[in-house]
Amino acid sequence: MNEKSILSNRINSLSESATLKMTQLGRELAEKGVEVISLSVGEPDYHTPDHVKEAGKKAIDENFTQYSPVPGYMDLRLAIAEKLKNENNLEYSPQQIVVSTGAKQSLSNVILVLINPGEEVIIPTPYWVSYSEMVLLAEGKSVFIPTGLDSDFKITAAQLEEAITPKTKAIMFSSPCNPTGSVYSKEELESLAKVIEKHPNIFIISDEIYEHINFVGSHESIAQFPSIKDRVVIVNGFSKAYAMTGWRLGYIAANSTIAQACNKLQGQTTSGTCSIAQKAGVAAYKGGLEAIEEMKKGFSSRRELVYQLLSDIPGIQTNKPEGAFYFFPQVNSFFGKKDAQGNTINNSSDLALYLLNTAHVAVVAGDAFGNDDYIRISYAASEEQLKKALKRIKDALAELK
Ligand code: PMP
Ligand code: GLU
Repeated sequence: MNEKSILSNRINSLSESATLKMTQLGRELAEKGVEVISLSVGEPDYHTPDHVKEAGKKAIDENFTQYSPVPGYMDLRLAIAEKLKNENNLEYSPQQIVVSTGAKQSLSNVILVLINPGEEVIIPTPYWVSYSEMVLLAEGKSVFIPTGLDSDFKITAAQLEEAITPKTKAIMFSSPCNPTGSVYSKEELESLAKVIEKHPNIFIISDEIYEHINFVGSHESIAQFPSIKDRVVIVNGFSKAYAMTGWRLGYIAANSTIAQACNKLQGQTTSGTCSIAQKAGVAAYKGGLEAIEEMKKGFSSRRELVYQLLSDIPGIQTNKPEGAFYFFPQVNSFFGKKDAQGNTINNSSDLALYLLNTAHVAVVAGDAFGNDDYIRISYAASEEQLKKALKRIKDALAELK
């Protein structure tokens, strides 16, 4: 039987997550005994802070081991509302907050409750891999606004205005951005908000999961502009800020209609997320920002290191990312060149595979993020590993003729 014929069109048309696939390929090579350096997955290489881990253990001992309310425990939603007030100066009631199994589920919930078949979602490229696939699952249409190094990968108000059609339902972006590390300033967000203001049926899905990994200033949310706040859905989570990727804890803050819809959807799909992770999340938000500051210092010095090392590789061009923990260097000067076996590097996927197999460094091809001229390098790794990896990349690229 044709394997594809037993599956739905929905799943057959979906691409595999490139970030996870590259990480898996790296793991498989490592299992064969090759010393692979993985710069593919976007995951802090720090541990969850001790007081957060203790709260998780205590939650088990205190028998928080049963179904939780679908949108999350009230103490966690109160802690999130308090965080949004204290750190972002944004007012949300706990009823406007829905906790989910990672920001990934939060994003997917929001897309599924907002988008009808055929409706358009504007996505500036490069974008995080799963955005376009989530829109596809909802049978919506992604409308991409291309950007590049010249604009530091940011869109302008004029570009946004031009992309809007009567079918536009939402715009979706991350700042700080995965994969480019770009950060929109308050003024840039305000100019986008002014465009949205004129289109009362458009929603903004604002992915702020890297808010704390910002090297240029304090975080700015597009929800700060009162004229559009009710149409902004903030997506955030604990994975990046508190090194809690495996706990699976994310959330949205939105108007009550959207929050209730996500609650309804989640009630029929996954129910409330892990009770233990939620109690750990309360401790994270109540415990101050010390651990985050430490982690940010580490990322900051690695950013300097990788910037220097990348700038030293002939044929590579890069910006200096203002946030997150990725570089998105331009690599198209290598396209058309051949490796030692005579295979031509035609695109970013060929180059990523070449680097994996020759330099034994896992990175992600730019085409997964909607821009084939680039690759993504995650610098959530030790300085020693980064130095070694960048040296190997430099040597492997020099062999391309
Ligand atoms: N948004 C962006 C931009 C991300 O990089 C990630 C990382 N996987 C997520 C959302 C989802 O994070 P999580 O599901 O781990 O909370
Ligand atoms: N956000 C991370 C990344 O972009 C995690 C992997 C994923 O969930 O796709 O690599």
